[in-house]
Amino acid sequence: MARIVMKFGGTSVGDCDRIKNVARRVKAEVERGNEVAVVVSAMSGVTNQLVDYCKQISPLYDPREYDAVVSTGEQVTIGLLAIALQELGLDARSWCGWQLPVRTDGAHGKARIESIDTTGMLAAMAKGQIAVMAGFQGLGPDNRISTLGRGGSDTSAVALAAALHADRCDIYTDVDGIYTTDPRIVAKARKLDKITYEEMLELASLGAKVLQTRSVEMAMKHRVRVQVLSSFVDMPGTLVCDEDEIVEKELVSGIAYSRDEAKITLVKVADRPGVAAAIFGPLADNNVNVDMIVQNVSEDGKSTDLTFTVGKADLDRALKVLEDRKTELAYERLVPDSNVVKVSVIGMGMRSHAGVAQKMFQTLAEKGINILVISTSEIKVSVLIAEDYTELALRALHSAYGLDVQ
Ligand code: ADP
Ligand code: ASP
Ligand code: MG
Repeated sequence: MARIVMKFGGTSVGDCDRIKNVARRVKAEVERGNEVAVVVSAMSGVTNQLVDYCKQISPLYDPREYDAVVSTGEQVTIGLLAIALQELGLDARSWCGWQLPVRTDGAHGKARIESIDTTGMLAAMAKGQIAVMAGFQGLGPDNRISTLGRGGSDTSAVALAAALHADRCDIYTDVDGIYTTDPRIVAKARKLDKITYEEMLELASLGAKVLQTRSVEMAMKHRVRVQVLSSFVDMPGTLVCDEDEIVEKELVSGIAYSRDEAKITLVKVADRPGVAAAIFGPLADNNVNVDMIVQNVSEDGKSTDLTFTVGKADLDRALKVLEDRKTELAYERLVPDSNVVKVSVIGMGMRSHAGVAQKMFQTLAEKGINILVISTSEIKVSVLIAEDYTELALRALHSAYGLDVQ
């Protein structure tokens, strides 16, 4: 007997028929002799709607009340799935995050799971009851409901799998696995049998929404075997695993994009020691995360242009911080641009092979796409380009690195 955590995303529990379909899948796993805990998201679209309600009432809402609101979508689906399982003759019950509890830190709206008390759940499972846990939610140190950030049910599932010492964590979604790039944009995207934790971590943090970044961090840390597969078709998915489990290593394993970035240019900012600290210090103090940074060469030795990116959601706050310090920073102009996309090429092979970045620049040049900012790390190269070129860039790069399905 294996112990398995099965997680179903928003589309998979999108209506009552789909919830019944999920119940049948869970039943099949139980009939194979396995012990099962299920984690579900809210029905697709519900969390967006709840977020929107909060914003309509107050753009600067209290994050604790935001969590009280947005966590409710999952409470509906756990109850419905438990009923659907009971209809199939199975013993099942729902678990809200606070009922275990799933303990998190106090960062409401983007909380991190700190521990899960599985005592009650394990006792119920030992009696043959299927546990259906709400994803996305937990209990903060203030004893109030917290949520884990968008896409957080993946992290709930992996954390539960780690806490239960499960043999596997299966993430059921609306695609049948992890692809070389988003299959909804590049029709020639190729499904991967396996991908390393490190590569998946880069893919996720660079924009591939198929797994929340923290779920991959958690899986890597606790060595949870994660499989991503379809909740609609019966076929093996993609396994996220250790590097030594993968025989055929690709130079480039995937391409990701993120539309969540915005670019800010400070024109003619003073070129003297301490200026970068004077800009990025206050941004950090105001919770604005800066991602890519490029500083141009100073032509006159006195001033230079500085360009960097922040999350789109943080753009207004970043601009306010910089405008408030215009005199101190002595820049000429502030130029924001949110019509940008970050495209990233990822692969473990880059550690030992040169030329990956060059191929990226060449390919984009051939398509007449201008690169605005570049950043690199050991296993990825990212470029910022105009948003209109997203599809064109992804398809061209996908072909250039030989990733197209044959
Ligand atoms: P769920 O609601 O099940 O959590 P998500 O919408 O969060 O599903 O994630 C699945 C989506 O991730 C897919 O529909 C797909 O468009 C997108 N995606 C982005 N990059 C990739 C990739 N490399 N492989 C597979 N899917 C990807
Ligand atoms: N329902 C939450 C969201 O839409 C969590 C999730 O789907 O993973 O972000
Ligand atoms: Mg998701």
